[in-house]
Amino acid sequence: MKTCPKFTFGVGDRFAHGAHAQLTAFIEAKKLGIDIVPVWNKSNREHNIIGSEPSQTRAAADKAVADLGWTGDYLLDADHINLTTVDRFVAPCDFFTLDVADDIGEAATAEDVAAFIAKHPELIGTVSIEGIDRPFEITQADVEKAANKFLKATQKAAAIYQHIVAAKGGVDEFVTEVSMDETDSPQTPPELLIILAAIADQGIPIQTIAPKFTGRFNKGVDYVGDLKQFETEFNDDLAVIAHAVKTYGLPATLKLSVHSGSDKFSIYPIIKQALRRTGAGLHVKTAGTNWLEEIIGLAEAGGSGLDLAKQIYAKSLEKKAALCEPYATVIDIRDEKLPTAEEVNGWTSEQFTSALRHDQANPGYNADLRQLLHVGFKVAAQLGDTYLNALVENREVVSKNVTGNLLERHMKPLFL
Ligand SMILES: [Zn+2]
Repeated sequence: MKTCPKFTFGVGDRFAHGAHAQLTAFIEAKKLGIDIVPVWNKSNREHNIIGSEPSQTRAAADKAVADLGWTGDYLLDADHINLTTVDRFVAPCDFFTLDVADDIGEAATAEDVAAFIAKHPELIGTVSIEGIDRPFEITQADVEKAANKFLKATQKAAAIYQHIVAAKGGVDEFVTEVSMDETDSPQTPPELLIILAAIADQGIPIQTIAPKFTGRFNKGVDYVGDLKQFETEFNDDLAVIAHAVKTYGLPATLKLSVHSGSDKFSIYPIIKQALRRTGAGLHVKTAGTNWLEEIIGLAEAGGSGLDLAKQIYAKSLEKKAALCEPYATVIDIRDEKLPTAEEVNGWTSEQFTSALRHDQANPGYNADLRQLLHVGFKVAAQLGDTYLNALVENREVVSKNVTGNLLERHMKPLFL
């Protein structure tokens, strides 16, 4: 197992042109005493939409690290992979996010469920966990229900994990994450405890786990939900993880992973405080927020850059249904709030960037337009070299936005 650093921060570089600007944010953060390790993540879904290969993400990351003289650790995440999609990620990646969200609810065999219950009497009854005031009251029926819901998913995670180890020549020199976030209902802290017991039974050296939290974690926009409830749940999850590490012998580096973690400004103070209080580590996964900064940079550049940004918006609007479909559980777009393509065509650079940049204090900010453009990267991918050349031509203004967004709006509020 490759030990996962305490604080890791996932960045997505959809078009493999942003790694330098992203790494610059980590370098600037380090100067401020924020020690975070970059993890370049790109899911199979994103590679398919763009038509890219994981080896290209690796090349872009390696080049940025070499060019900028980054001597710290860095990782490459095979994000949201499963048994059918993992193979092309095996060679370039050293972080694997085993996605078993779709397997939740698929029942394990009755024998396996019975064996799990028999093996874990400690999960039944009054379960006291350090750091949680009220002990969990868990019945045998609760454990059985959770086992029926999650045991099969953990068995599938084990199969993916073993497949990766075998494909790596029998060597586990990577970080393993298990993700369950892209599903309809959140996992409660008692369920998380049961899931971790099952993952330990499966022999998965899990170092980060991405549950689905309460509330909406929509792509590219702020958290929508009950902050008090999130705070309780997040703190309980941290306590459950610490308890599971001790009880089930899971890696001491096991930590929470917050997916769709970019732009969740209202929960950052809660997360920061919880980390300070407990000394826990954290992985935050961001991806699309970087691509949006590319569009902001192009719009800010004016001229042909602004024209291209408008063109991408118009096409995204036209193809909205198809673009949104793969992201249904992680976006909420109100059609009536979307400006027409004609309206946007008349915008100045400032109007465009005000609408798109994630500054909720700006009266021009439009969260619906932002979410639509978030899923609109396929349109840019279809523009091919036209889009990539625009990134190169406007490198300075694009980079300024990519770096500034990560550093000022994400790293400082979370870690400083
Ligand atoms: Zn995710």
